[in-house]
Formats: sequence, structure tokens, C-alpha cells
Amino acid sequence: MMNEGYVTVHGKRFHYTWLRDHCLCPACYHPNSSQKIYDVSLSPLPPEPTSVEEGAEELRILWKEAPPHESVFPIGWLLSHSYDPVPGPEHQSALTMWDHPWLEAHPPEHFDASSTSFESWTRQLTTLGFAIIRRLAPEDLHHWFGAIGPVHTTEYGDSSRVKPTPAAKDLAFSDAGDSLLPHTDGSYRYGERLLQFLYAHENTTVGGDSILVDGFRVARDFRLHHPNEFQVLARTPIRFRQYDKQTGYLFKHTTPILVLDGPGEVEAVYYSPKNIDWQLPFDQVAGYYQAYSLFSQYLNDPAYQHRFRMESGDCLLLQNFRVLHSRSQYDPSSGYRDFETGYVDWSYVAGRVEYRSIDSQEGP
Ligand SMILES: [Zn+2]
Repeated sequence: MMNEGYVTVHGKRFHYTWLRDHCLCPACYHPNSSQKIYDVSLSPLPPEPTSVEEGAEELRILWKEAPPHESVFPIGWLLSHSYDPVPGPEHQSALTMWDHPWLEAHPPEHFDASSTSFESWTRQLTTLGFAIIRRLAPEDLHHWFGAIGPVHTTEYGDSSRVKPTPAAKDLAFSDAGDSLLPHTDGSYRYGERLLQFLYAHENTTVGGDSILVDGFRVARDFRLHHPNEFQVLARTPIRFRQYDKQTGYLFKHTTPILVLDGPGEVEAVYYSPKNIDWQLPFDQVAGYYQAYSLFSQYLNDPAYQHRFRMESGDCLLLQNFRVLHSRSQYDPSSGYRDFETGYVDWSYVAGRVEYRSIDSQEGP
């Protein structure tokens, strides 16, 4: 039925403004790329229909334009694009925030490199923020990881070896087997959202367990119990730095540790004690240390930590802007610990998951 400003089809309302903007004719919409050609700024708002005809199969609208323009919408297309009262659910799976007890009760699945499907391991990766692929041969690692998306190159190249190195430029490569506090990688580079892999070539040392922490879960509990300190971490930008004598870079990036999205939910966590460089005004320092120290206590609390041992051929995948990783101290003389790490921009993971979830009949 026709109404002021919108038309109702099968109980769903569609604004004329929206309908004119979504015209599917080849002059308004490029069918191959599914991109828009129509320029909303060229028509008066709201667009006026001369006639609206609802048939069993399609909705036809003739617009009061010179020359007159006709839009034809298949009813099925309209219903699949309905936004009344809200747009349909996204295909993305919902997050499951976890702590140690939750993972004890719901042990994460391990995926075999030779038999797992993209859908299986990405489902866990997008819900829990991490997934472990088992029995991935070292010669297959780069091909397997590169198939997800273009490799994100850093000052280390396409990937870097995490093994004991004399005069290490990062604590991760220390030849003393230092423990690492929970952290996200690359906090000193501008706003990265990366999928990270950590691959175990060899792990025969005593110690050196891998530890993961769900930064979103910690942030949620932290917000609940310490709302003021949460706001300090969410509203105060601080600086992360990396001084690299070998490649000749001094990286600096300023960001809040807890990054909030429009509605105020945590959408990214950047945290790396080894790179933190404050740069705060005098009056903020005491309060910031208070909040930061409290948040760090949460991250170091075993109740939030998933601790496990990586075996040769294991490949850990994690959302580097959600799940923090760390390792326990190890004795370098007791064996050999040789890991490799690299990244792909998270856009490629999300984009591939979305692409594979669309109904090929319906299209985007
Ligand atoms: Zn058109």
C-alpha cells in the first residue's frame, strides 16, 4: 500500500528515499560489481513516485523525474533487504567471551591441517578469537597461511623467527628464555587489526608454555567491577614505542589501550608492557598507573588465562586486537624453542568469511 514517505510490502516498510537510492536498473546499479552508480544528491528529497504498483512478483515504481524513471524490485529481493524494524542479522557468528573456567567446561577444538575446512576453524577463530591447527608441515605453512589473504609484511619481512638470538632486538627473541607478559603485537604501529599466526617448528625446552587471554572478556569484567578505571584506559591515549637499531626505525603510536566503537563496546585492545612509553601529563600519571596496574593484574590472573603447550607442527591463529598472548619462562639450555610468527590483515579473514556465507542465489 502507498503511504506518506514509504510503501509497505508484506508488512515491511520501505522509504521512497531508500527505494530510489536502491534502484536496481543498470543506470543506477552496476550489476557485475554490485556497486552503486546513482547519486542521491542529484534528486530532490524525498523522491516522489508518480505510481506504485505491487504485483505478486515485483514492485514497480515510476518516479516523478524528467525524464521519468522506473524502478522494478523483485519482492524476494526487497524482503531479503528489509530493515523494518531493523536490518536482518549479519552472517558473522557472535562472540563468545571466555575465561579459564569457561574453556575448561568447553574445551576448544583442535583442527587437523589436512582435514579441516575453512568454515570450521574460522568459526572458532571468530567466536573465541583463536584457533589451533595441528600437524601443519613446515613446508606448507606459508602456502596455507598465505591462502587466507595477502601476507602483512612488517620490518621483519613476511614473517619472523621467534627463537633465542644473541643481542636480541626484542624480548621475544631473548637468548635467556625470558617470560613474556600478555601482550598484543605491533602496538607501536598505527591502528592494526591483524590475524596472527604463531607456528611451532620445535619446542623441546623445559618451560615456555603458551598463554592466551581474552582481552574482551577481561575488559568486560574490568568495566563491571572498576568502571572509573575502565574509563581511564578507554579515554586516555598513551604511547607505545619500538626502537629498532637493526632496521633503523623508531616507531611510535598513540592509542587508548581499550578502543571503543560507536555504541561504546570494546572493539580492540592494544596492550604491550614491553613497548609502553606513557607520555602523559603530570596530573594524569598517578591515576593512569592505578588503572593500568589493576588491568594488568586481571590479565596476569590465571583465572583468565588459557595455558597450553605448543608441539612441533602446531599453528596458533589469533585475533591480535582481541586475544593477548604470552609465554612462560623457559630454560634455553634444556632444548630448543623455535617459533615463527606472521600476520594477515583481519579484513581478509572477515571478508572471506562473509563472502562464503552469502547465498549465491541471493547475491550481495
Ligand atoms: Zn534506476
